[in-house]
Amino acid sequence: MRFLLILIAVTVLVLSIRMLLKKTVTKSETRQSNSEPMVPCKQCNLHIPKSEAVRHAEQFFCCDAHYKKWQNEHNIQ
Ligand SMILES: [Zn+2]
Repeated sequence: MRFLLILIAVTVLVLSIRMLLKKTVTKSETRQSNSEPMVPCKQCNLHIPKSEAVRHAEQFFCCDAHYKKWQNEHNIQ
């Protein structure tokens, strides 16, 4: 009877450790996707993920319209 209790206790322990490890892996995966560098839009200063930003000559924009607007303003000056 005592052996059975120990067996159950060990099984529960192993299962909870497995669950904890799974959680840790999921957390680090989420952290990785969240750690994507953010860049500010040159026109409105809105921060967007670098991969989603419109990039033109080392300048970042949240959308094509803001790039065109910035370019127009830049050409006038
Ligand atoms: Zn913008």
